[in-house]
Amino acid sequence: MPAAGAAPVRRLGIDVGGTKCLAVVLDETGAVVGEERRPTPHGPQAIVDAIVALVDECRPFTSIGVGVPGLVTRAGVLRAAPNLVDTTDFHVREMLGERLGVAVEVDNDATCAAVAEWTFGAARGSSDFVLVTLGTGIGGGIVAGGALQRGANGFTGEIGHMVVDPHGPPCPCGRNGCWERYASGSGLGRLAREVAGEGRLVRVVELAGGDVAAVRGEHVQAAAAEGDAAALAVINDYARWVALGLVNLTNILDPQMFVLGGGLATAGEMYLAPILRWMTQLLYAPELRPHPQVVFAEWGERAGAVGAALLPTVR
Ligand SMILES: [Zn+2]
Repeated sequence: MPAAGAAPVRRLGIDVGGTKCLAVVLDETGAVVGEERRPTPHGPQAIVDAIVALVDECRPFTSIGVGVPGLVTRAGVLRAAPNLVDTTDFHVREMLGERLGVAVEVDNDATCAAVAEWTFGAARGSSDFVLVTLGTGIGGGIVAGGALQRGANGFTGEIGHMVVDPHGPPCPCGRNGCWERYASGSGLGRLAREVAGEGRLVRVVELAGGDVAAVRGEHVQAAAAEGDAAALAVINDYARWVALGLVNLTNILDPQMFVLGGGLATAGEMYLAPILRWMTQLLYAPELRPHPQVVFAEWGERAGAVGAALLPTVR
């Protein structure tokens, strides 16, 4: 409890996404007591203006944190962000600090989501877990040995760019066959379009309006929910790609659990059994070790903003 007369805790967190900026205010128990959003404009100056406007709508606050997508240095500089237009070398912490006159914590959005799940979500109390966001791409946040991992530069957790097939499709990062080409939400759509092109996904194509090129992950999910065997086969194939990456991460980090978030996690139960089955097949010495748990994120689309609000508590 705050001391008598002290201002109540109001932690402000802002998640800058590819299309929208979401702001939340948390009280000391982690309850969301305020929420505002705005479209994400183009370029650093316009983004700073949008954040400042959100901050003004959420006053008063006792601390502020911001999550941004891409490579974020420990000094709060966004080095590269494929989903934000014209933002190379965006000095987020410095520009915001000058405008607002207060210290601003800045980190990668998936790292923020890991903080949200660690403090008030699915990974509460865990000393070793990996948060994996399965969305347009794949983001990662890592807690190991009870500590949030940031790496030498702040770039820890770019797990979506681990190569699983050097002869695979090109990735915006410049390489080929990155995990996120297969195991993200868009990866599911791509896998489905390949199969649909061979004429094997009649119901899925029907749900996509009869156009193979329009097939997306959600059409596969909808057909699989109806029990369509061909769609379930695609889900199984997709689950193998997800499991492959989770097992690679297990070999490196030996986590207690994976927390799956992002758009796909909303229909997570459909994927859980095949993912666990493939993990059992792919794990090193599966009969001689505890298998990492696979659970789903609890914070949904608010994870990044909630974790950004909590950044000052984990430094
Ligand atoms: Zn890549």
